[in-house]
Amino acid sequence: MTLHPDFDLPGLTALRRDLHAHPELGFEEHRTSAIVADRLRALGLEVTTGIAGTGVVGTLRGGNGAIGLRADMDALAMPETSGKPWASTVPGQMHACGHDGHTCMLLGAAEVLARVPPAITVHFIFQPAEEGRGGARAMVDDGLFARFPCDMVFGLHNMPGLEPGEMAVVEGPQLASSDSWTLTLTGTGTHGAKPHLGRDPIPAAGMFLGALQTVTGRIVDPLQPAVVSACSLRAGDPKALNVIPDMVQIGGTARAYTPQVRDQLEQGIGQLAQGCAQAQGLRADYNFIRRIPPVVNERSATRMALGAARAAVAQVRTDFPPSTAGDDFAFFANEVPGAYVWLGNGPARDGALHHNTGYDFNDDALPHGVAFWVALARQAATAKAG
Ligand SMILES: [Zn+2]
Ligand SMILES: [Zn+2]
Repeated sequence: MTLHPDFDLPGLTALRRDLHAHPELGFEEHRTSAIVADRLRALGLEVTTGIAGTGVVGTLRGGNGAIGLRADMDALAMPETSGKPWASTVPGQMHACGHDGHTCMLLGAAEVLARVPPAITVHFIFQPAEEGRGGARAMVDDGLFARFPCDMVFGLHNMPGLEPGEMAVVEGPQLASSDSWTLTLTGTGTHGAKPHLGRDPIPAAGMFLGALQTVTGRIVDPLQPAVVSACSLRAGDPKALNVIPDMVQIGGTARAYTPQVRDQLEQGIGQLAQGCAQAQGLRADYNFIRRIPPVVNERSATRMALGAARAAVAQVRTDFPPSTAGDDFAFFANEVPGAYVWLGNGPARDGALHHNTGYDFNDDALPHGVAFWVALARQAATAKAG
């Protein structure tokens, strides 16, 4: 069964394209945030602005209990090549992850729910800076759940490859942790022809990089997913090919779906780094920076989301594979039981996936996302009443 609540779809589509044309980076979503706040006020919701800077919460009061529905608002620092009439008007910034669509679908749901409020309080959470700038954590630190207590919190992301009327709702791990690590191997630079007079850090860097995949291959349980990648390598100068440098700097990312594997990656990379350095008489300065925990869907929240998805859209998958990307929705789901769901964005057009310069949110998905949020609020109210 599909359910298309009555709301201003042409108006919402126009807003989606307007937001797409005016992308704003994390914590700089002043225009977007003002539009969101104005629209929520016009619907008669209680509106709180300035949460973690540009964050907005719209509250629709009703009955006992409360849920939080989250949309992210930020764009990415990259140029757009989509060629669409509503393409970015801001050089070097674009909505390449579809957050313009997320913002609009949650506004559409607020419009429908405000007309016939459910018997539960709904907090519409508009989050800044999802793309690696720490918006969710900043909202939690700004007292999000103390000021707007929620029994459960939900997030939704568009997904190319699924049809616009299709959703995936799966219990357990959805998105990996997203952590960074850096390593500096320091020796003593010297003449390239007289290596014995210094301490060359380059062979140790080679040893380290060659053995790096043993961290996932030999330390982590083969049945547990994990990724370690070295993504940056700096040493010496291509114009000085007779100079052994003092140091090599290496950096990369680490992804996991459980706290245990996350710990193993942190320790494993560090141990390997220290070992390689020690073998060559070098100093290793290793840093593991915990950025975003994994998103793991809690059972009861997932059940509720699944019921809502089945009521709202034609096709619901329960066997969708997790993504090795990250989403800082994890900070919300660490505070209260949460579920994160996928909404189809249709086939990838011209091969453009998330974070591609040609990516665009598919407006055909708008009514489905609105229907899901509305069904979810109604289900949560029914569950509370029952
Ligand atoms: Zn993204
Ligand atoms: Zn995104």
